[in-house]
Amino acid sequence: MKQYYTDVAVVGGGPAGLAAALTANREGAQVMLLEREGRLGGILKQCIHDGFGLVRFGEKLTGPEYAGRFLDQIAESGIEVMTLAFVSGIDRTGSGYQLRVICREGLCVIHARAVVLSTGCRERTAKQVSIHGDRPSGVLTAGAAQHYVNLLGQLPGRRCVILGSGDIGLIMARRLTLEGAEVLGVYEAKPEPSGLARNIAQCLTDFDIPLYTSRTVTRVFGSERLEAVEVCETDSQMRPVPGTAQRIPCDALILSVGLIPENELALGLGLSLDPRTKGPQCDQRMQTELPGLFCCGNALHVSDLVDYVSESGETAGRGAADFARGRLPQAKTVPVQAEGPLAYVLPQRLSADNQEKTVFYFRAGKSCGPAVLRVRCGETELLRRRYRALRPPEMERLVLELPAELPAALQFSLEPEEPGEEGKQ
Ligand SMILES: Cc1cc2nc3c(=O)[nH]c(=O)nc-3n(C[C@H](O)[C@H](O)[C@H](O)COP(=O)(O)OP(=O)(O)OC[C@H]3O[C@@H](n4cnc5c(N)ncnc54)[C@H](O)[C@@H]3O)c2cc1C
Repeated sequence: MKQYYTDVAVVGGGPAGLAAALTANREGAQVMLLEREGRLGGILKQCIHDGFGLVRFGEKLTGPEYAGRFLDQIAESGIEVMTLAFVSGIDRTGSGYQLRVICREGLCVIHARAVVLSTGCRERTAKQVSIHGDRPSGVLTAGAAQHYVNLLGQLPGRRCVILGSGDIGLIMARRLTLEGAEVLGVYEAKPEPSGLARNIAQCLTDFDIPLYTSRTVTRVFGSERLEAVEVCETDSQMRPVPGTAQRIPCDALILSVGLIPENELALGLGLSLDPRTKGPQCDQRMQTELPGLFCCGNALHVSDLVDYVSESGETAGRGAADFARGRLPQAKTVPVQAEGPLAYVLPQRLSADNQEKTVFYFRAGKSCGPAVLRVRCGETELLRRRYRALRPPEMERLVLELPAELPAALQFSLEPEEPGEEGKQ
């Protein structure tokens, strides 16, 4: 079996992996980039709508255009790229990690001092949201529908119901409409939509596609092909309300009911996942609990903007190169705690040797505002910032200059704004 040796192995060639590989390479590490599909670019290959890169490039790019900016650099970088290379498992060794790869040659083993996991996420399916009934064709996830329409040029249905108002579902509602299908409605079990406000406006309102909140699909009908779905109203716990069932004839049910970080490789290494992010816990360099193992992009937590995915890739790539080259001290860590209606704060812990500006990402667990975010370390208040409104679909980013020594846990708390606090920062 062929054996390869490298400083840094990056698993997954989406925007997170591209950024990680380029940065590790720039930092002087030898890099191998492994991608199970035939082409690099990850999910961006099928995202032909615009809206990517506003933060990073100040331009509205399509997914392929955004990926192209990194792919051009990869081509000139000397990074060894392996496509059609599926990493099936990783083991720890005395000198780092050993990756088992199913590739064009059959099987090969890659020995790396450091590994970056940038494996993205997968979509929840009908079964995971308890839709009962038969298994006719015509029930598919929004990402699969996007693949059919944008990459294969095939329309998955002519009368479509979309379950879930996540961004991919909203984007597909517009895309299917533009391709001549009739989108009967987007149904959301929660009382408010899950997608970004700009996508509600641009994908539904602009195309007169109805959005029904507090409703869900409870059943599908049809043996060979989908014939209809049953929709029910939902209560405050998102449970179907008895007696509210309505049958809607349709030939496609598109599911946009959430994304789950893909972390089988991390689990195989014995890492436990953070139940809030569904990704490994990491420090400010995106290093997981295992020294030399880094994670970034949607595998770490689901991001709504690709710009922050690339940013986390760069951080992980830099950390991995430093680790591989023996430049990363293994310092003790302090936890980062999230209080109040915060869903999570990332990173979940900080290496105490921190001396740089540190980037934090956080999400509110429920819509709130005006609210005040406070960051404390022991008795010292490091930041107080007012937010007019916070919504769970919109991830927030914050840069903090932390003291060189961190004597205690960092506490993030979100509190309703007190009267008279409006002018304070
Ligand atoms: C439909 C849709 C619309 C979006 N719209 C926008 C938008 O308008 N604006 C915006 O800023 N963001 C948008 N996003 C978000 C953004 O595109 C994603 O957050 C980003 O692409 C995630 O990057 P990633 O590299 O973490 O994952 P991915 O792009 O999913 O890449 C992961 C890669 O890892 C590979 N992989 C996984 N496991 C293995 C393995 N074991 N071995 C080898 N390879 C492996 C996969 O094949 C894949 O190529 C959208 C996302 C989707 C899905």
